[in-house]
Amino acid sequence: MDGMMMHRPLLVKDILTYGTGAHRRGEIISVRTEGDIHRQTYEQTGRRIAQLGHALEGLGVTFGDRVATLAWNGYRHFELYYAIAGIGAICHTINPRLSAEQLIYIVNHAEDRVLFLDTTFVPLVEAVLDHLPKNLTFVIMTDRAHMPDTTFPALCYEELLEGQPESFDWPDMPEDTACGLCYTSGTTGNPKGALYSHRSTVLHALMTIVAQTVSFIEGKKVLPVVPLFHVNAWGLPFSALMSGLSLVMPGPKLDGPSLFKLMDDEEVFSAWGVPTVWMGLQAEMKAQGRKPKGFEDVVIGGSAAPRSMIEAFEALDINVCHAWGMTEMSPIGTHGTLPRWMDDAPLNKRIDYKQKQGRRCFGVDLKIVDDNGNPLPEDGRATGELYVRGNTVVSGYFRNEGASTKAFDKDGWFGTGDVATLDPDGFLTLRDRTKDLIKSGGEWISSIDLENAAMSHPAIASCAAIAVPHPKWDERPVLVAVAAGAEKPDLEDVQRHLSEHFAKWQLPDDLVWVDALPLTATGKVSKLTLREQLGDYQHPDLRETA
Ligand code: ADP
Repeated sequence: MDGMMMHRPLLVKDILTYGTGAHRRGEIISVRTEGDIHRQTYEQTGRRIAQLGHALEGLGVTFGDRVATLAWNGYRHFELYYAIAGIGAICHTINPRLSAEQLIYIVNHAEDRVLFLDTTFVPLVEAVLDHLPKNLTFVIMTDRAHMPDTTFPALCYEELLEGQPESFDWPDMPEDTACGLCYTSGTTGNPKGALYSHRSTVLHALMTIVAQTVSFIEGKKVLPVVPLFHVNAWGLPFSALMSGLSLVMPGPKLDGPSLFKLMDDEEVFSAWGVPTVWMGLQAEMKAQGRKPKGFEDVVIGGSAAPRSMIEAFEALDINVCHAWGMTEMSPIGTHGTLPRWMDDAPLNKRIDYKQKQGRRCFGVDLKIVDDNGNPLPEDGRATGELYVRGNTVVSGYFRNEGASTKAFDKDGWFGTGDVATLDPDGFLTLRDRTKDLIKSGGEWISSIDLENAAMSHPAIASCAAIAVPHPKWDERPVLVAVAAGAEKPDLEDVQRHLSEHFAKWQLPDDLVWVDALPLTATGKVSKLTLREQLGDYQHPDLRETA
């Protein structure tokens, strides 16, 4: 229509040019694989991204090409995100914790042209070299002095940048151009690729900044423990630059003492990651009897945040934002910033709400449905599979028609595989994954609820509730736990602890102590591997009759 607004495509280059200008004094502070701490401003970063853009073109990378990364969180990885997208190519981040078989699968499936890697990952590449595409170009993300010996020909990152022009006239392109690719860790079958567009990436950054008003404060520092190699570190490379948060990149060392020291030295304001890393940090906070200086905000997602973890952070005035999302959702779907009307609510009630997965972000539609796909009421009680829709949700999987058709309902909503309730205030509560459900005598028991309650037992550090076959009840819950110290309470003790929150039939029938729980490539407890590890474990009732 005449006289309407301009239409400019939403492009990643706009975050780059805006952020490196408006927030040019912002910084990226990185723990390098070289061993030192490196600092550069966003303005310097912008110049290096321009150089990298020219270098990529020099390597023959063109529009639509996939350029892979195998790298920790650091400034060079950040530079790759923007330079690759800037020239219209696709940044394919690879999770180095995937099995060799999965890594080989995804590099070949994506048909990557160039692979950028940290020095740490040279042995990983050498181990699978024979199975990688023959025309793959390797670039090692370091300077000449630190170039390792390799059995494959490799270029040097800093040498590629040297002498390149420090500005780049980034091309315009349609906003639906792909800019990022991330494969799900594929707990069953081959990993599936989620292909992000410039448009979805820009919208996702805007959405999260609007939702998590507490986390995005210009001039403060944010630390993504969540890796850049998995779903764009929950979008932080984009939302931080857009909002003027400086980035503190932790490199390879993510244990409690290393994180504590880095956060303390840099006075990190907000830190983002999965519950497993916070366990390490909280242990260190306990050992030191204090929190890292300036630490006021933590974003927890990827798996359910245990209540005890939320309480421990909040007790030290660290605001917990419990978020939920998926690789297929860019990834943030809901956020845990509490609405103002809860300001005066008692702490216990606030924690009840922080334990939920939060409310939807602008642009993400949620619905829960029954077994026939009919929508269920949002009354906080009705429980069903969660479906989502929105501009930051995949419309299919990259080059995978089979998986794509299965994932959506007839109206085009994406099935998350999560089982949840929604309440009238819009709070989402995840009860389980469809594949982890424990169905006992036709009634189901939430493994997330059981795990959460069990983890508040002082002797339990972490645990997993799993279903084991039972002749009478079909399935019964069994708790597999890791002890926090030397004490290992018996089943009755743990049942007593749980009985406050659960009916008798919902309590686990057995307690199995293990030294550690197997984790997936994204740091979640892998129930699939756990079930395999338990091998011929049988329910106690079966053992007695045998
Ligand atoms: P993966 O590659 O391991 O599948 P994703 O990050 O895509 O990694 O995993 C998404 C799934 O993780 C969700 O469907 C949900 O089951 C689980 N998840 C994510 N955030 C939370 C949360 N806050 N609470 C409980 N489960 C979560």
